[in-house]
Amino acid sequence: MKYSLIIENISQIFTAAEKDPLISGGDLLIAVDGNGLIDFAGSKSDFIKLSPEFRNGSDLIYDAEGRAVYPGLIDSHTHLVFASTREDEFALKASGATYEEIAAAGGGILNSTKKTKTATLEMIVEQSAKRLEQIISYGVTTIEIKSGYALDVEGELKLLRAVKELKKRYPVEIVPTFLGAHAYPEKFRNDHDGYIDLIINEMLPEIKKENLAEFVDVFCEKGYFSLKETEKILVAAKEAGFGLKLHADEFNSLGGTELAADLGAASVDHLEEITEEGIRKLALSGTVAGVLPVTSVFSRLPFAPASKMIENGVKVALATDMNPGSCMCGFLPLAASLGATQLKLSIENSLKGITSSAACSVGRSDRKGRVAKGMDGDLVIMDSSSWIYPVYHFAHNHVHRTFIKGRPLTLKGLSS
Ligand SMILES: [Zn+2]
Repeated sequence: MKYSLIIENISQIFTAAEKDPLISGGDLLIAVDGNGLIDFAGSKSDFIKLSPEFRNGSDLIYDAEGRAVYPGLIDSHTHLVFASTREDEFALKASGATYEEIAAAGGGILNSTKKTKTATLEMIVEQSAKRLEQIISYGVTTIEIKSGYALDVEGELKLLRAVKELKKRYPVEIVPTFLGAHAYPEKFRNDHDGYIDLIINEMLPEIKKENLAEFVDVFCEKGYFSLKETEKILVAAKEAGFGLKLHADEFNSLGGTELAADLGAASVDHLEEITEEGIRKLALSGTVAGVLPVTSVFSRLPFAPASKMIENGVKVALATDMNPGSCMCGFLPLAASLGATQLKLSIENSLKGITSSAACSVGRSDRKGRVAKGMDGDLVIMDSSSWIYPVYHFAHNHVHRTFIKGRPLTLKGLSS
C-alpha cells in the first residue's frame, strides 16, 4: 500500500464516531492512502503488523510529537461573502439598539445590500478571501457559505460567483448556499409575491444552470419571510433539485422548524425559540439543528436549548454564523467552547457539533467530519496532548498543522 501521509506519535485521536469517539493510550498513528482517504487510525503497533514496510511507501511521515488530532473542522453556517463591514451599526448595538431597531433605521441586511450592489466581483472576492484565510488557519477544512446580501438577480449571482472563485483558489471544501430569501429588498417591500416570483422563476433557474449553489435557504421570521412564503420557496427549490436549509425560530416560533423537518431539509438553524413540538419533529426527521452560540453572545440573544435537543435525539451542529451584522466572528473553535460552557454540552458533543454533526448539516457525512477508514484525510493536529484542552483553553487558536486529503495545507495551496 502506498500512503500519502502517516502521522505518528499521536497522543489521542478525537474520531467524532457516533459511539466511542475517542482513541487514547498514546503512540497512535493515522495513515492516509494514495487517494487521500484515511486507511487506518489506531495504535502504531497494530498498524505495523498490517503494514510493516510503511516507511518505504509513504510520501510524508509526520511526527505529531505527542499531540492530539481532530478531524478537519466544519463550519456549517456562514455568510462569509459580503462587500463591506458594518462597524458603525456595531457601535449602535453597543449602545443598546436591538436587531429590529437597527433594521427599522435602515441598517441590517439592507445596509449590506446597498454596499454589495456597488462592489465589483473582484472586490468581494478579495475581501472574502482575507476572511477565509483567517478561518482556514483555525483548522476549518469545510465551510458552508451563503449568498443573500444583494437580493436581485445579478447581485445574487455575483455573490455566488465569488464563492465559486474562492473554491478555485483554496483547497478547502466549500458548500455554496443561495439565500436570496434573506430579506425583502426595498423595491418589493409591498410586493412579496413579486419578489418570491423573481426568486423562483429567475434566480433559481439561473443558479441551477451555472451550478452555483447546492442548498437553498430562507430566513423565516416576523418582518422577513412568513411560514407560507417560506414554504413556497422551499418547495420550488426542492423541485428544482436543491438541498434545503432554513433560518428559523431566532426571535419567534412561526413553525419553520416543523416545516424544515416535513420537507426533509438538511438543517434548520438558529432555534433560540424552538418549541417542544419542533424538537420532537427534528428528532423524527433527522434534520440537523444548527445552533449558533457565538451569535447569541455577540447579539445578546438567548442560547438555543441544545442539550435538551441532544437528550431528545436531535443531531446538533455548532457553527459561527459569521456575518457583518449579528456575528462578526469566524473563530469556529469558540462555538465548541461555548457549547461546553453555555449550552451545557459534553466535550464530545461540543466537538461533534463542529465535525461529524456539522458534516451531516452540509450533506457531507459520507466523506467529512470523522476520522475513520474511507473518509477524506482532512486532519488537524492540535498543539496539545489532550483532546479536551483546545475546548477548555478557549478563544485561542491551538492549531499546530492541518492536512487536507492527506496533504499539508499552506495558504498558498496544498504542498505535494
Ligand atoms: Zn445565518
